[in-house]
Amino acid sequence: MKAVRYYGPNKPLKIEDVEKPKITEDEVLVKVKAAGVCHTDLHFLDGTLVPWKGTLPITLGHEIAGEIEEVGKKVKNFKKGDRVVINNNKSCGKCEYCKRGMQNLCNDLDQHGFTIDGGYAEYVKTVERTLVKLPKEVPFEKAAVLPCAVGSVYHGLTDQAKLEAGESLLINGFGGLGTSAFQVAKHLGAKVFVVDVSKEKLKMAEEMGADGVIDGTKPNVNEEIKRMTGGKGVNVALELVGLKKTMENAFNSLAKMGRYVIIGYTKDLLEINPLSLVVGEFRIIGSVSYTHQNLIDVVELARKKKISPVVSKTVKLDEIPEVLNQMKEKKVVGRVVAKP
Ligand SMILES: [Zn+2]
Ligand SMILES: [Zn+2]
Repeated sequence: MKAVRYYGPNKPLKIEDVEKPKITEDEVLVKVKAAGVCHTDLHFLDGTLVPWKGTLPITLGHEIAGEIEEVGKKVKNFKKGDRVVINNNKSCGKCEYCKRGMQNLCNDLDQHGFTIDGGYAEYVKTVERTLVKLPKEVPFEKAAVLPCAVGSVYHGLTDQAKLEAGESLLINGFGGLGTSAFQVAKHLGAKVFVVDVSKEKLKMAEEMGADGVIDGTKPNVNEEIKRMTGGKGVNVALELVGLKKTMENAFNSLAKMGRYVIIGYTKDLLEINPLSLVVGEFRIIGSVSYTHQNLIDVVELARKKKISPVVSKTVKLDEIPEVLNQMKEKKVVGRVVAKP
């Protein structure tokens, strides 16, 4: 079968013919119908991110939806022909975090497209516990991007920030994750304020029904947010940019008891006087990936059309290296999905 293989940082991706995976009695073979082409792959290519276990080469692609081709004898809840989306966190299923349903924090985590073969191929093998059944109402292309584009902000806003109806949220950065966070927050019944430096993105936020938009290039962003919230500040701020200035603005926009959730990679440092944490009883919270239950919830939200990730283009497997090149040069708008 055809697969897009990663050999390490600063080496080109290769499109190769590899053997179709053979499954054991615990495994499931999935015929890939759609695989999201994610910005994270660029971190592998430039060496910012290196697979922390396993051996190279591997097949990249961590956003995968498809149809079950074959199941092992011990597989109970899935059968040939089932439509599925794959949780790319192939957790051990046994450690203390897995037992608590926090597969994202598993002590022995493998990840499809990170440490083991992913979805830039005609087939991928996995295990039952990574699979979520996909209702027919959700097309494969949208399903593929659900885990990464929606799952992570869903985890951040629900499990981590515990955002409630009637509360206010500030979204720092209105890209793919920002628009997903917007849909999730509106579904939860929150008021949403958006900060971005792009006028087009702010216009989009307004059209989607934002309760307020703030131009991030202006000084005193946090004062503007305080003004928009009647002097109170926001209950939750979601950090999707990670620059020193955006982080300070977000933290300083919080209402008392406000929660500041940080998602994604940042190199800048956040400097805070501990006293400023104490006086408002603020919380700073990290959020990584998503749990299996989060993915089940997100698929259900997509079925009900409460959230709908935007896919701008579909390509073939052998076009992936070129798409990633274009993404690096910021020539790609929206999400691209590969269909083997
Ligand atoms: Zn991704
Ligand atoms: Zn585990």
